[in-house]
Amino acid sequence: MSGHYRAGMARGPVDIEALRIREGDRPDLDDRDPRATPGYDGDKESSVPVMAGLNARLEELQELLYADGRHRVLVVLQALDAGGKDGTIRHVFDGLNPAGVKAPAFKKPSSAELAHDYLWRIHPHVPGDGELVIFNRSHYEDVLVVRVLELVDEKRWRKRYGHIRDFEQMLADEGTTIIKIFLHISPEEQAERLQDRLDRPEKNWKFETGDLEMRARWWEFMDAFEDAIAETSTDDAPWYVIPADRKWFRNLAVSQILIETLESLELRHPPAEDGLDQIVIEDVPDRP
Ligand code: AMP
Ligand code: MG
Repeated sequence: MSGHYRAGMARGPVDIEALRIREGDRPDLDDRDPRATPGYDGDKESSVPVMAGLNARLEELQELLYADGRHRVLVVLQALDAGGKDGTIRHVFDGLNPAGVKAPAFKKPSSAELAHDYLWRIHPHVPGDGELVIFNRSHYEDVLVVRVLELVDEKRWRKRYGHIRDFEQMLADEGTTIIKIFLHISPEEQAERLQDRLDRPEKNWKFETGDLEMRARWWEFMDAFEDAIAETSTDDAPWYVIPADRKWFRNLAVSQILIETLESLELRHPPAEDGLDQIVIEDVPDRP
């Protein structure tokens, strides 16, 4: 089996280049298999130790990102309902140091948020120095659900692609590393996951009848995702389309993308003060 991953290895178990949408390309979502496992020839069972290795490496790198304090990393996570956003955050970021990690979720905008431009609520949550921030939904909702449900007219949402490109380019130019992830599931997989939310009492809270209305608009959402990805995948803020029916593969892929992104930053511990080797830790003086 070729899927073994060692911390520090340059190439991981997944062919992430196959998942990256290059600037100017348009992903044909119909043509991409949500059950695919590009680059990985193992199965769920064999993925367990591989995932543990990736997780340990990501922990190391995040600690270093925090200690280094010179870089900001933003991960945008988008998917349809039951697409696996929450599970991805739980698994991929398991064990990371909460001091340096945030995962804001963007729900239906409040009336105060709706009284402003759509980026107003987003900008305060972007990462600061040393931080890793994962957006659970994002400004992309404003060209996805907003488009499909016709919450604003087409003339208005179409202009947003340009705003979003410029906003993300500004963040990148000012020192933020951005990656954007679309978890691609099949309608059949979504049906199973929604059914599971109905069947298991402890999952009932996740079920919303509104999700069925969205499901009925599946193909409109696919068009909206294809357009959004094609319009906004850039060298500095690339989209990755992750086959996500198999949760274990999704976790491997997202972990590896994160690891390779952090490795590319050439993180280092900040230089130590001079003369640390001369320092002696004395006993506390006697109580007066
Ligand atoms: P969930 O992620 O399941 O908690 O659901 C959040 C809901 O908020 C989803 O139905 C999103 O489509 C919706 N939502 C998020 N952002 C926006 C937005 N900008 N405009 C309208 N609905 C949104
Ligand atoms: Mg939901």
